[in-house]
Amino acid sequence: MTPYVAGIQPVESGWIKLNTNENPYPPSPNVIESLKSADFSRLRLYPDSDSGILRRAVAENLGLTEDNVFCGNGSDEVLALAFATFFAGKPDILMPDVSYGFYEVWSAMYDAGRMEVPLRGLKVCPEDYKGGKGVVIANPNAPTGNALTLPEVEQIVRSNPDGVVIVDEAYIDFADAESAVGLIGKFDNLLVVRTFSKAYSLAGLRAGFAAGHKYLIDGLRRVKNAFNSYPLDMLAQTAAAAAIRDTAYWDKTRKEITKTRETLRAALDAPPSQANFLFWRPPDAKKMYEYLLENKILVRYWDKPKINGYLRITIGTNEQTVELIRCVKRF
Ligand SMILES: *Cc1c(COP(=O)(O)O)cnc(C)c1O
Repeated sequence: MTPYVAGIQPVESGWIKLNTNENPYPPSPNVIESLKSADFSRLRLYPDSDSGILRRAVAENLGLTEDNVFCGNGSDEVLALAFATFFAGKPDILMPDVSYGFYEVWSAMYDAGRMEVPLRGLKVCPEDYKGGKGVVIANPNAPTGNALTLPEVEQIVRSNPDGVVIVDEAYIDFADAESAVGLIGKFDNLLVVRTFSKAYSLAGLRAGFAAGHKYLIDGLRRVKNAFNSYPLDMLAQTAAAAAIRDTAYWDKTRKEITKTRETLRAALDAPPSQANFLFWRPPDAKKMYEYLLENKILVRYWDKPKINGYLRITIGTNEQTVELIRCVKRF
């Protein structure tokens, strides 16, 4: 196996960490309160295997019912289970050639016939996705930061009626584009996957979810129960439910991040992004990456064809952004 290689997580402090698209702000105060008032004696019991309280909170937030929601240990787990459930052993699973690196790993792991669809000018083109036995796209896409409009996503779902279309919306909270959740009532082959790691500042908690037709959700549940019945612990269910209920805090922090994104974008003259990162082409990406690293600023660089001229830079706090711009100017 060739596993996914995640960005560096330094253990010592003193780094400006802009390499794994974490949120620079702490989670909602309601998250901390929910944990403080949790009944710790219940930790002796196994948690609710179907994450009932969290599924209810998510369903309420999305305007769906609990039957339409599946929760997992980070959206990475949800996505891996979705590959196992819907794509295992199937041919013609369409995905962009440049996207989240894990899709390639899971394709190999579950023997899914990965069909790479080249981006055109760094963009996903909906007309290139037709007749697949499955589709997976990230919207907004990573690491490019481009997003499809809702009608474009709908076009892809419509053009692939013989398979499940997975739309990974890890960054949708930072986009102008609308979520595909609104299409769930219309299509039984659409699975929308989201995470608590980015917009909800809970990467360390490990919680994510999928929303879709109840038959798809039931499929995921069966595979989950054949693998690990209790992917989300009691505290994670409690804290994630508190996070998604605090819509005011979510809105405030995501707006702060998109504001900082536009400041940094102007300073670097980077292309537009719909996510909490920029995909920027400096004069020499590798040298810039190394220079920033020497200055204790971590960003993401891939020594891979097509993207080795770029850096992916997570949007941090305003102070971190000032320091980053200063360092880039010095370079
Ligand atoms: C960050 C990210 C995820 C997963 O995050 P989890 O922390 O596992 O929820 C999924 N998809 C994309 C495209 C991401 O960038």
